[in-house]
Amino acid sequence: MLYMDDNKILQNKTAVVTGGSRGIGQAIAISYAKAGANVAIIYSGSYEQAEKTIKLIEEFDVKALAYQCDVSDFSQVKDTVAKIIQDFSSIDILVNNAGITIDKLVLMMTEEDFQKVIDVNLKGAFNMIRHICPVMAKNRCGKIINISSVSGIMGNVGQANYAASKAGLIGLSKTIAKEYALRNINCNVIAPGFIKTDMTDKLNDNIKDQATNAIPMKKMGNPQDIANLAVFLASRYSDYITGEVIKVDGGLCI
Ligand code: NAP
Repeated sequence: MLYMDDNKILQNKTAVVTGGSRGIGQAIAISYAKAGANVAIIYSGSYEQAEKTIKLIEEFDVKALAYQCDVSDFSQVKDTVAKIIQDFSSIDILVNNAGITIDKLVLMMTEEDFQKVIDVNLKGAFNMIRHICPVMAKNRCGKIINISSVSGIMGNVGQANYAASKAGLIGLSKTIAKEYALRNINCNVIAPGFIKTDMTDKLNDNIKDQATNAIPMKKMGNPQDIANLAVFLASRYSDYITGEVIKVDGGLCI
């Protein structure tokens, strides 16, 4: 019998967290370090923020390195994964968290607006999985966690590109869960609701008030609310869970 009584549940594991420099990814990366994992974070541009996060992770006496890489670029991801394997020897946990929004009503949305969001949010996750799954399959063990959104489940006005990318992540994840179940690789999805980060900070107060009002708990979530579930899904306590989509949204999408 396994009981959740171990606070170093990720000891000796190596985790890769995309978009680990800020917001939800940063909270996940720090929580993994707290649980004993070595952590590689991937960021796109904010070097100083990434270095700050590395310092916070190192406080837990684990190995931590940051890699600049555009997850939407297949060959950059291939090279970065090779570097991570060289630096850490292996990869046990992958969190596809990097994401962007370019919100507009569909009639105002350009082809580029649509493509860019799909490329980062959906193709980015495919690129990471494509290069990391062979390592996990060889080890016959791995945990993949894809960060979707309730927008991908419900749709959302102004987010045709984003909602499509996040719904696509769910189909991708269920397929990976089926293809790799016999290799002991679990693939699950977290669908956050409205979480306090830079992504939601840029919304105007009116939209924030409307969104908060629609949440039964009448409050936004914190990055740590997502990180707590990401720790569980990366640990052995979730070994018999795969292909699931778990909402963390204060009841927004009941
Ligand atoms: P955030 O604060 O805006 O941070 C985004 C992160 O993604 C940053 O670390 C950024 O790197 C990285 N990133 C962006 N484009 C990238 C690229 N092309 N290649 C590599 N890294 C890239 O976002 P967040 O709110 O924490 O969101 C994290 C995830 O949760 C996203 O997938 C988002 O869609 C999802 N989510 C968020 C909410 C919410 O309410 N906040 C709700 C539902 C789902 P730099 O720092 O270098 O720019």
